[in-house]
Amino acid sequence: NNKPAKPATAECVKVMVRTRPMNQKEFDRGSTRVVQVESTTSQIQLFKPGEPEGVPRSFTFDVVYGEDSQQQAVYDECAFGLVESVLEGYNGTMFAYGQTGCGKTHTMMGPAASLDPSCSPEMQELRGIIPRAVRHIFSFIDAADKGIKFLVRCSYLEIYNENILDLLGARKEQEHLQIKEDPNKGIFVKDLTTVIVKSVPELEKMLFAGMKNRKVGETAMNKDSSRSHSIFTIYIETAEDLKDGTGKQKIKAGKLNLVDLAGSERQSKTQATGARLDEAKAINLSLSALGNVIKALVDGGSSHVPYRDSKLTRLLQDSLGGNTKTVMVAALSPADYNYDETLSTLHYANRAK
Ligand code: ADP
Ligand code: MG
Repeated sequence: NNKPAKPATAECVKVMVRTRPMNQKEFDRGSTRVVQVESTTSQIQLFKPGEPEGVPRSFTFDVVYGEDSQQQAVYDECAFGLVESVLEGYNGTMFAYGQTGCGKTHTMMGPAASLDPSCSPEMQELRGIIPRAVRHIFSFIDAADKGIKFLVRCSYLEIYNENILDLLGARKEQEHLQIKEDPNKGIFVKDLTTVIVKSVPELEKMLFAGMKNRKVGETAMNKDSSRSHSIFTIYIETAEDLKDGTGKQKIKAGKLNLVDLAGSERQSKTQATGARLDEAKAINLSLSALGNVIKALVDGGSSHVPYRDSKLTRLLQDSLGGNTKTVMVAALSPADYNYDETLSTLHYANRAK
């Protein structure tokens, strides 16, 4: 299927930076805030610890959110358009980057309690981008002309130590999957489970089943810190009868990749050794490969986009650049204690503009 032409790549990468509130641990250790969010100018100011009167470093992004930002606003401003374009047959990717404990999962998923279908309306407000996207997709389908047929499928995989694992496959078959390339299908993962889903509960059931299968490792920073990247992909195909008497159909196919990246923190802070150090190396490799791909796309004119440098970028090859939309979320802690990591996250996000 031919994708219609879309504007140049640079406009198709949107960078959003979100600071979470100070947490109890930071209050208890007497932390002060070093991050200031200026939403009118879309700027983040970062002060050196202990120098609240000093000149801050200043960074400008497409959208910035402070400690009191609402999930609904984040969805409407940063995810809604991306999901609509996937429903129109384009590919799209949303990924969350940042140090562990800064709000990647909060932004992408929301608190576990908010995912309970019977939770209170206040709790529902805390749902993140993925559960909102799932509802957005099915309400679009419900409202569409009945002559348009939709096929929605999903897959869920994890990249751990540069190995690809199927989060929806039977647990006993936990072998590493291979990336393949096909002239018609493009890049795909051989034997990856894809499931047809017909409703919000069916799609969420797959999401929750996959989340349970994720690898989690305890680091000194966060008890359930994820040391792997996960990609939840929703594939949407539509078929519409052409009303020209030929009996032909117009077919569109888009996919939405929702990526929760492993924590970007450096090894020294997490006191990593042995297996944890190997994990950290794999994480660094793929995060810097992703940064390099985005940079090459945004700079444009670059004939070589280094997709092949990691499994992550290879898998996302047909959903980053070209006729696709990408939204990058960078999650920050406001506390002085995290200054170095915050600066490094801001630099990473800044390269993506
Ligand atoms: P990460 O996935 O980056 O490791 P989490 O999303 O798990 O981090 O966030 C760590 C903690 O901070 C969680 O308890 C989460 O609920 C809280 N949190 C993160 N971002 C926000 C936010 N914007 N508003 C309120 N709480 C937040
Ligand atoms: Mg997380």
